[in-house]
Amino acid sequence: MMRLPKFEYRTPQTIGDAVKIMADAGAVGQFVAGGTDLYPNMKRRQQMPKTVISVMRLNELNQITGDGSHGLHIGASVTLTDICESELINRDYAVVAHAARLISTPILRNMGTIGGNLLLDTRCNYYDQNFEWRKGINFCLKKDGDVCWVAPGSSKCWAVQSADLVPVMVAIGAKLRFASTLGERVVDAAGLYNDDGIDYLHKRQDELLVSIELPPTNGWRASYQKLRRRGAFDFPVLGVAAYVKQDGGLVSDAKIVLGGIAPSPIQINEAATALIGKTLNDDQIHAAAEAAYIKARPLDNTDFVYQWRKQMARQYTIRALRELVSNE
Ligand SMILES: Cc1cc2nc3c(=O)[nH]c(=O)nc-3n(C[C@H](O)[C@H](O)[C@H](O)COP(=O)(O)OP(=O)(O)OC[C@H]3O[C@@H](n4cnc5c(N)ncnc54)[C@H](O)[C@@H]3O)c2cc1C
Ligand code: SF4
Repeated sequence: MMRLPKFEYRTPQTIGDAVKIMADAGAVGQFVAGGTDLYPNMKRRQQMPKTVISVMRLNELNQITGDGSHGLHIGASVTLTDICESELINRDYAVVAHAARLISTPILRNMGTIGGNLLLDTRCNYYDQNFEWRKGINFCLKKDGDVCWVAPGSSKCWAVQSADLVPVMVAIGAKLRFASTLGERVVDAAGLYNDDGIDYLHKRQDELLVSIELPPTNGWRASYQKLRRRGAFDFPVLGVAAYVKQDGGLVSDAKIVLGGIAPSPIQINEAATALIGKTLNDDQIHAAAEAAYIKARPLDNTDFVYQWRKQMARQYTIRALRELVSNE
């Protein structure tokens, strides 16, 4: 049985207290929400915080306010189950509820939060193993070692961004609000992720994610398609988020974002170029899908053969865009 290492557990009631405790804890502090990712990582000795600060009792982080006309504010500690079941989110931001429903299992969704999902650790077959297994291969760059077993000549870690809501938030243009003892800042979801499996967020370790701000719906529509081995539950090994806005039958804005194949989500600008100014017909959809195929370069460090996952980037982009075809 894998046991948790010893740590101090703190349960602040205000954002001010939470960020103060984190500042006092320094580099060995870490926030926890549902703990569905952090605690397994601690059991595997991948992450070893000495002070674990729960964000679940911070009222401000548990609220959903607003609507599609004005924009939606979702507190970082709102659980995935609450997102799946929210009438408001299902009505105005159906793509968010849909992607949340594809995450893990009902019990894990009761615990897991939107904030934890957006800040999820990157994943790799050589890393998501217990301590003894990793010790057996002499560890790797991401924790305790000095070689990458996926690309042994590489000084970079290629562990994969594997959270379902990440490509969706990038595609729909969500903003994330952070707090620390130094104050608040708001960043575009697109700017948060870094193409490095170790240093995968443009975020300081002491920053608390307070909320996710969704833009007014304003005529845009979005969809999400997920590739995984088991339909019942599994991490994505490819996720395609598609976003389009149409004006008079023509696409006026578009984004295709791939998740699950690189250390950060990948926005395919060439796919957007293939769509903007055109009708959303099968020719344009295939052109966008071809651009996604060309840009998708998965490595051999998650499930399925990577060449096949590359092929699937084309198919899943077609599926995601076809879902958005309408006569508007
Ligand atoms: C069996 C299994 C299957 C899974 N399947 C999927 C899947 O299909 N798709 C998927 O996307 N995920 C999956 N997950 C991962 C996980 O359950 C979800 O991503 C979940 O949303 C994580 O949320 P959490 O609240 O439990 O995060 P936690 O484990 O609490 O935290 C995750 C990370 O976020 C940080 N963090 C959390 N909240 C804050 C905050 N407010 N401010 C600053 N930092 C914060 C933590 O420090 C930690 O680094 C799976 C997990 C398991 C165990
Ligand atoms: S990509 Fe390489 S360095 Fe990163 S977790 Fe996997 S084996 Fe380790």
